[in-house]
Amino acid sequence: METRVLIMQLAYLLSAVLFILGLKRLSHPDTARGGNRLAAIGMLLAIVATLIGEQILTWQWIIAGLLIGTVIGGFMARFVKMTAMPQMVGLFNGLGGLASGLVAAAEFLRYSMGVAETAHVPLDGSISIMIGTLIGAVTFSGSLIAFGKLQGIVTEKAVKFPAQQFLNAVLFLGILAAMAYLILMTPDAIAATDTGTVNIVYYALWGGAMLLGVLLVIPIGGADMPVVVSLLNSYSGLAASAAGFVLNNNVLIISGALVGASGLILTRIMCKAMNRSLTNVIFGSFGQTTGGGPRATGEKRTMADVNDVQADDVAMLLAYAKQVVIVPGYGLAVAQAQHKLRELCDNLEGRGVNVKYVVHPVAGRMPGHMNVLLAEANVPYNQLYEPDDVNPDITNIDVCLVVGANDVVNPAARDEPASDLYGMPIIEVDRAKHCVVMKRSLNPGFAGVDNELFYLRNTMMLFGDAADSIGRILEEVKQL
Ligand code: NDP
Repeated sequence: METRVLIMQLAYLLSAVLFILGLKRLSHPDTARGGNRLAAIGMLLAIVATLIGEQILTWQWIIAGLLIGTVIGGFMARFVKMTAMPQMVGLFNGLGGLASGLVAAAEFLRYSMGVAETAHVPLDGSISIMIGTLIGAVTFSGSLIAFGKLQGIVTEKAVKFPAQQFLNAVLFLGILAAMAYLILMTPDAIAATDTGTVNIVYYALWGGAMLLGVLLVIPIGGADMPVVVSLLNSYSGLAASAAGFVLNNNVLIISGALVGASGLILTRIMCKAMNRSLTNVIFGSFGQTTGGGPRATGEKRTMADVNDVQADDVAMLLAYAKQVVIVPGYGLAVAQAQHKLRELCDNLEGRGVNVKYVVHPVAGRMPGHMNVLLAEANVPYNQLYEPDDVNPDITNIDVCLVVGANDVVNPAARDEPASDLYGMPIIEVDRAKHCVVMKRSLNPGFAGVDNELFYLRNTMMLFGDAADSIGRILEEVKQL
């Protein structure tokens, strides 16, 4: 083996080791930053090794790509809101899928246009090209639909029509047939005989796979999109892995497999945290019905049915409590109230109140959403707890302060078998001595299920934007 190739392969191996060690360290908050750094070094090494390998385009193209990517990436990092992150991740997955699909297409065209060094396409090469094309195209179009649903460009409702599953099955079989044709017809030379037909079938494969991506995602309701995005993330990893096989690039194969596996694990964790199966997510149309909660009883509740309080009441309650539990939810991210919340909690701690933040695994709109927000406000990790840490003793908690959370504290998930949320583990704030809920209205949360918690005798509702409400409570607490 040529020395340069040997060095490149060794660098790739080292990169792969750094990726794996980086991922391992990401599993704990204390080591996560270091893990991120290790993985970034691994990526830098892989890029440098690829450039040194000189199996690349001209430098001008690389620099142009780098500049365009940096400008777009920098713009997004600066201006995209935290609450829009799920759709951004969705879009990135789609672009990853497209890139992998294009790698496969470029390789196909190299043979079909007769510009490859040899007219012979090895069997494993043509299998990789077809798989890369399929997964890349499905990931691309499916992710665009997921992005559109989360962004409100495409209807959030589950789009269903008669014989949908049958049509999907027929389309999938057609795609498999096209792939089989291309694989079987082309091992010796795509360029050799009937290039026209081969090309048409290949383009039809792209069209069919893109259509399949759309058809697979439109019947899923907007409420399940974050899970779908995580699943598509896994697909984008598989597509990258397939591109690695196409290019014979070990580091791409390994990193793609790592993304594929971690995306799948994440999808499983999300499903488990919502107590739903993946099949239910894909075929269940979650959030389309009211199911359970007060609305199911037919009663129409109004503001007159709740215990509406003001900031000074809550300040008094908090300042003289012994144990306070904070439950952050999506509304905290919308209000960007994390810094004020931390300030309030620091003040309470200074008064001798024991404050715990309890984070539900699916609070917010993406895994780890609340952890990231709280870390941004420098909330120490040892103050973060999981629902199981507090639920058994929650009756001893003086005040549970629910900041923009709704579904993750909905007792219907525990008590109402007819509810869409039934079975989802919750933080049982309704069992605490007092519960204060901060939100702007009585509207339901993400799942579209009304929340009986708001109407309970020990619940107090503090209406308004969470940042304003916390600010007012803080002012009051400071004067006590
Ligand atoms: P929810 O979406 O259930 O509720 C958020 C609440 O925040 C709303 O009811 C809203 O009420 C309130 N809110 C919005 N803006 C503000 C504001 N500026 N100030 C105060 N309150 C505000 O959030 P949860 O975090 O409790 O639950 C997350 C949901 O997302 C779950 O159903 C979960 O299954 C789902 N999900 C989460 C995923 C994840 O990975 N985290 C993935 C997939 C789904 P109002 O409009 O009245 O103010």
